[in-house]
Amino acid sequence: MLNKRYLFVPGPTPIPERVQNAMHVPMINHRGVGYESIFKDIICRLQDVFNTHTADILVYPSAGTGAMEAGIVNMFSPGDKVLVISIGNFGDRLGEISKNYGLDVEMMSFVEGTAACPKKLQARLSADTEFQIKGILMTHNETSTGVTNDVKALLAACAHHPAVRMVDAVSALGAIEMRMDEWGADVVVTGSQKALMIPPGIGLVAFGPRAWEAYKTSKLPKFYWDAAKVKKSLDKWQNPYTPAVSLLFGLQEALKMIEEEGLNNIYARHELLAKMVRAAVSAMNLELLPDESVSSSVVTAIKAPEGINAKDIQKALREQYAITVAGGQRHLEGKIFRIGHLGYACPADMIVVLTFLEMVLYKLGHKLELGAGIKAAQQVLIEAE
Ligand SMILES: *Cc1c(COP(=O)(O)O)cnc(C)c1O
Repeated sequence: MLNKRYLFVPGPTPIPERVQNAMHVPMINHRGVGYESIFKDIICRLQDVFNTHTADILVYPSAGTGAMEAGIVNMFSPGDKVLVISIGNFGDRLGEISKNYGLDVEMMSFVEGTAACPKKLQARLSADTEFQIKGILMTHNETSTGVTNDVKALLAACAHHPAVRMVDAVSALGAIEMRMDEWGADVVVTGSQKALMIPPGIGLVAFGPRAWEAYKTSKLPKFYWDAAKVKKSLDKWQNPYTPAVSLLFGLQEALKMIEEEGLNNIYARHELLAKMVRAAVSAMNLELLPDESVSSSVVTAIKAPEGINAKDIQKALREQYAITVAGGQRHLEGKIFRIGHLGYACPADMIVVLTFLEMVLYKLGHKLELGAGIKAAQQVLIEAE
């Protein structure tokens, strides 16, 4: 049977037709007339998404991981102590990058499926009376476990400590509120292929005044990632080396769509989609990996039922209905599956994925009543209207 393909992974995410069309145009000279005004428009719009007036938005042709690395190499020196708050795979990655650059890494790890505790952070920072910790690194939304940290509270817990604070908001920015200046983040990084609704290939680093202070003494080696080089070009609405021009065309269009919908409406839409999924999950006799109170609005991590491998659920969805959902990473492989609902995602999409998930589970022998999950999702939607 003919099937349309549906993508429900937490990045790369579906691309709106408007964005696709905006990218499907002839190449222009990035050093020529016209480029600067496009780039300036993009930077100004991005500042609104980050909610910053003080940070410089550094644009790299890179994956999100590149943006994470850029944040780190531009602030620290070998041997600097950094406190890495990790609630999963991507938090651990912040630690791995730091270790690779010879930083003295202290991990503050929390059980997968839980969020980081601001009080614990505050206690650790109060004990650091000699201010040996130079940087505090954290994840906004831990994509691997479907948990959103209370970044506002975590940043507030850092208030009386001089260390620079960096937030990996790769799967959050543009879908979950970030108030960079107000909340006191010095660096916020993201990637293009998640909530920003464009293909992979752009890494963004919002680099604030205190990050620039740290830059002055930072001795980690850098060339491609050198923030000062990017800034020097940025002041002329230019780039130090060839930017991902097509993706920037797409980004400009996506940012227009974001402005039209409004950030608050976008945050609310993601919360609604997550609520639909959670209601259906519970009605299908499934369990979330995280506690509902910290469960992400952009990706829902669901435990495979006893006796069923999550990979078989993914396989059946993919092979029978052309629907792709994500699996678990590392030791969660086979144990959980994840439904991404970020970026260009709407209630109708949720009905699609939940309907076929219900059918697949039913056929795999999981005990549920056909239609119960969908009914629960419909009820959430009707109540929200
Ligand atoms: C996707 C993701 C990354 C990595 O992005 P890449 O583009 O794959 O390098 C980092 N952190 C979080 C939280 C993510 O969701």
